[in-house]
Amino acid sequence: MDGIESKADKDSMIDPFGRHVSYLRVSVTDRCDFRCVYCMSEDMTFLPKKDVLSLEELERMCTAFVRKGVKKLRLTGGEPLVRKNIMSLINNLGKLIDTGELEELTLTTNGSQLHRYADDLVAAGVKRINVSVDTLDPVKFQEATRWGKLEQVMTGLAAAKKAGLQVKINAVALKHLNAMEFDDMIRWCGENGFDLTLIETMPLGEIGEDRVDQYLPLSQVRQDLEKRWTLKEIPYRTGGPARYTEIVETGAKLGFITPLTHNFCESCNRVRLTCTGTLYMCLGQEDAADLRAPIRASEDDALLNAAIDEAIGRKPKGHDFIIDRRDSAPAVGRHMSVTGG
Ligand code: SAM
Ligand code: SF4
Repeated sequence: MDGIESKADKDSMIDPFGRHVSYLRVSVTDRCDFRCVYCMSEDMTFLPKKDVLSLEELERMCTAFVRKGVKKLRLTGGEPLVRKNIMSLINNLGKLIDTGELEELTLTTNGSQLHRYADDLVAAGVKRINVSVDTLDPVKFQEATRWGKLEQVMTGLAAAKKAGLQVKINAVALKHLNAMEFDDMIRWCGENGFDLTLIETMPLGEIGEDRVDQYLPLSQVRQDLEKRWTLKEIPYRTGGPARYTEIVETGAKLGFITPLTHNFCESCNRVRLTCTGTLYMCLGQEDAADLRAPIRASEDDALLNAAIDEAIGRKPKGHDFIIDRRDSAPAVGRHMSVTGG
């Protein structure tokens, strides 16, 4: 690829609102070994294998995006670490860091397999991971994840820490689950050197529960926390939508992801690829582009590149999430495990 072509290519990752798309989140599987109440129903039907991109196809997709200017890749799911041979994909993507084409390779995981993979992840070039832990109470943890065991995740977190991975804990704020626990979580994260991000539940997919019942606005949580903790605004950004503060008492960061009480779309730099090769230009909108057909139609990337350009050209301005009494139906029908959060 010569210089002019490559510049034109990178310009194609600028959307109609002037936002440079430099962050790709890839759901590498829709499957998971947990069934979190806000994410999946207990009897989920998973995708047929033929619809799911092979690891080689996922690598080709990611590489195409990186060549177009994506600097940060986050693997997610479903649970990325339950996909068979996932380390082969992670190792190959890690090589893009070695060549300087990619700045960061990260993943979001439920932590259940971290005890097996922490060292391999570090060897592949992964430096930071997000681990989802909504509660530190083993009984509540099992209630929230249905199939998860807190102890296994704790073993995984210890392995991650030992391997030198920087860990950020993600907790979805849920009225009945963890509203009373944030002080404990802040303390626990501080002691372990983990950052913490609280997330508002988003109305994605039918989950067989009433979301109005679960929803806890983070503006309220923050006000309450500020009675006991000193939260200092800091300019720290990870390329994601979280706004960060530093908890002066622990020195750890506390982030808030507030799609419902605060709209963060104006600075959105990301797109999401599902394991079937569908590209969502916005987490909160139905519009999507099929990249599987072009990748399977030819071994050359010309069709794929054209489909990516076309998709970025219609990235919408923002989402329309809303949860209130009048409107409790999901804003979008697909589950978070499809687009990977
Ligand atoms: N299985 C991995 C995990 O749990 O971290 C990765 C995939 S999971 C879908 C990614 C993130 O989305 C998790 O932090 C999870 O808590 C969050 N999530 C799932 N459903 C959500 C919802 N309806 N609203 C807000 N966050 C959600
Ligand atoms: Fe699985 Fe993550 Fe969804 Fe929980 S949030 S069911 S761990 S994909």
